[in-house]
Amino acid sequence: STHVVWLRNDLRVTDNLALHAACQDPDATVLALFIATPAQWEKHAMAPRQAAFLLDNLRVVQHALAEKGIPLHYHECPDFAASVDWLVQFCARRQVTDLFYNYQYEINERLRDKQVKTRLAGSVNCHGYHDSLLLPPGSVLNGSGEMYKVFTPFRQAFIKRLLAADTACAPAPDVRGEPISDMAALSPFSYPRREVDSDDFPPGERAALQSLRRFCREQAQDYDKRRDFPALPGTSKLSPYLALGILSPRQCVSRLLAENPEMLERREGGAFIWFNELVWREFYRHLIVFWPALCKHRPFTAWTQWVKWRVSPEALSAWQQGKTGYPIVDAAMRQLNETGWIHNRLRMICASFLVKDLLIDWREGERYFMSQLLDGDLAANNGGWQWAASTGTDAVPYFRIFNPTTQGERFDPDGRFIRHWLPELAAVPDNDIHQPHRWADKQQHQLNYPQPIVDHKKARQETLAAFEAAKNAG
Ligand code: FAD
Repeated sequence: STHVVWLRNDLRVTDNLALHAACQDPDATVLALFIATPAQWEKHAMAPRQAAFLLDNLRVVQHALAEKGIPLHYHECPDFAASVDWLVQFCARRQVTDLFYNYQYEINERLRDKQVKTRLAGSVNCHGYHDSLLLPPGSVLNGSGEMYKVFTPFRQAFIKRLLAADTACAPAPDVRGEPISDMAALSPFSYPRREVDSDDFPPGERAALQSLRRFCREQAQDYDKRRDFPALPGTSKLSPYLALGILSPRQCVSRLLAENPEMLERREGGAFIWFNELVWREFYRHLIVFWPALCKHRPFTAWTQWVKWRVSPEALSAWQQGKTGYPIVDAAMRQLNETGWIHNRLRMICASFLVKDLLIDWREGERYFMSQLLDGDLAANNGGWQWAASTGTDAVPYFRIFNPTTQGERFDPDGRFIRHWLPELAAVPDNDIHQPHRWADKQQHQLNYPQPIVDHKKARQETLAAFEAAKNAG
């Protein structure tokens, strides 16, 4: 028999459920396959740096598989529809008996997999696995058999299920044949390229596992105290690896439990708070399966569709470029543009600023983040944006509006993070860094930094009025 492992966002050989299953039969011929779909990626606003990271990681996987005697086939098609056609022909040509893959949960990906299954019915057995989640969507439901809409009860039920579930990591496959030394070099995708800082994010599962180990040993215990301060290395920075499946959530939890065996019983402390973030990741993925409209730019809370957003290409562009005149927002947006990664706190501040201070449609921000993020992930990004915009389920209430100046004062009190990304504010003293023009005016100092593009107090009133009008209309 011939088994094909169709790799997608699961670029690793350890604890890869589809790969593990494909290798169970020692007599089967096993091939791995990756199909690049640049036109589809463009539609999904995939960041060029995420595509570059994907390619670098695919190369690492190709080598790791070759050491096991498993060849990686690579093909490029424009989009998912074309990839289905090509895959059906590939299976026929290679006399494939079984196709193994790990599920993806976004709407277009699910449609693609459904088409593949239909087209291959009768000739190829398709085997799908819930690999990118600790627990499959549909396995954590409330007493009425429905998906939770609120996070905390979801988490309670999730932990109960997790304690009863088998979430052991699957080992890497055994060597199946002679190592392959004459691999075809993978050519760059037909997609814009953008460098990824390999000091910050070295490619490959080995590097990811090392970071995970270090984080769980040295930092997880203090995660609750440090995670909100962007000047500190308080979070794991593992999101780019989790987004592309270079690391699995099972690996994260098993490492965390190895260092903190009581974590799930005690339910407190830094390690548990970190685990809690992994559960948010699951929550948002489960949600998009139950409400596929979330993948189609729809708000979760229906009445918010009536909010009259402001159309201002100038304000949108100032936000994108980090030129709003609000230092914490600008420093964060410049870090995002430069590196593709920012802290969760900063994502919340920037999202809140776009929606609640500029009154710009959250979907503009969602798309822009996606186009820049190294860890771009539809469920988490949509969940984060709908949370900040108050359009989501269990979101921040629309009348709770972050003040960007006080957020800066609380989370970057001495301006260390701000000064790093806004060198034009280097001379401003700590106490004034969050309102630099007030200081500059007093000193008669010329600052090469924009004036605030909105007055927060006024913007707040306008936003409240816009949401209230929408609520009454809905
Ligand atoms: P850690 O704090 O170390 O957390 C560990 C892991 O848990 C993360 O790597 C991530 O996989 C997961 N996680 C943490 N927080 C969340 C969360 N709130 N929702 C879902 N998963 C979470 N995360 C993405 O992975 N991709 C995105 O495209 C994305 N877009 C976001 C947009 C907005 C507006 C907001 C508010 C949040 C977004 N997040 C996104 C969630 C979160 O900000 C990042 O996962 C986190 O900052 C990544 O850094 P880290 O790996 O150091 O996280």
